[in-house]
Amino acid sequence: MSLLEVRDLAVRFPARTGRPASRPVDGVSFSLDRGETLALVGESGSGKSLTGLALLGLLPPPGELDPASRVTVSGVDLRTLDGPGWRRLRGGIIGTVFQDPAASLDPVHSAGAQVIEAIRAHRPVATGAARRQAAELFAEVGLEPDRLDAYPHQLSGGQRQRVMIAIALAAEPDLLLADEPTSALDVTVQAQILELLDRLQARRGLAVLLITHDLAIVAGRADRVAVLYAGQVVESGPAPAVLDAPSHPYTRALLAAIPRLDTADPVRPIPGAVPRPHAWPTGCRFHPRCDVAFDRCPLEAPTVSRSGPGRETRCWLAVEAP
Ligand code: SF4
Repeated sequence: MSLLEVRDLAVRFPARTGRPASRPVDGVSFSLDRGETLALVGESGSGKSLTGLALLGLLPPPGELDPASRVTVSGVDLRTLDGPGWRRLRGGIIGTVFQDPAASLDPVHSAGAQVIEAIRAHRPVATGAARRQAAELFAEVGLEPDRLDAYPHQLSGGQRQRVMIAIALAAEPDLLLADEPTSALDVTVQAQILELLDRLQARRGLAVLLITHDLAIVAGRADRVAVLYAGQVVESGPAPAVLDAPSHPYTRALLAAIPRLDTADPVRPIPGAVPRPHAWPTGCRFHPRCDVAFDRCPLEAPTVSRSGPGRETRCWLAVEAP
């Protein structure tokens, strides 16, 4: 069994005054093994961050997991978790790095105190021993020991993200969930943080679930990729194969929208916007933006079909391909 098994994950929001019911995540399936990196990719509103929050039991109210969702992490079935169980899962099994370290760190406590708190939340460790462990974690993420006593406002953006990574690793999780871990950082710091995550994964044998809108950081980093659109996985497979020869028009459109220095081809933005979850389009949810849509697309939702070794695609053209 894989470290993380996700089958038919759905997140639903009940109808409220002035707002109809919705399913912003609608039947997402994937798996992740130890030492492997899976990238969940899509635009804002595709459902990728809600998928991550659902795995952590942190859905914004009144959002809830559809009871038909089947998710196990390190053999733990999420449906069996109570309050303490969720707290053990968060940090103890899944370490998390979010986009904005400034918003995630507590401004009134030093960086070291927050790492020590994360260590002691999962193990009964004396304060002195926890401080030594925090210093070791700081060394592992490339921070000098004197930064333990610094407050978040005294750290750069890159240093704050290193602190967040130290906190995520404090309880030695099996899986690191990194949700847009570099989006708030400038380009050179982005590269340093991504290299750090790569090193830590290799050293600790971590599984990494990388949630990103940026296909450029997926290349050369992820083993597999799952592309989300309108709450569903529309294409999945080994990352090199999907990025070299995408089989879904949405994946092709995402790749064409990336600025590149090695080609004179113009950047082509994807027309239109991701639809709202309470009003998914009929048929194929991508059809209003798809440049190869045909008469069947608005009428019938495409089924998922094999599109190569280890690859699946949710598109009528893949079904009809020879
Ligand atoms: Fe485009 Fe039709 Fe394929 Fe949807 S099913 S991605 S609209 S060609």
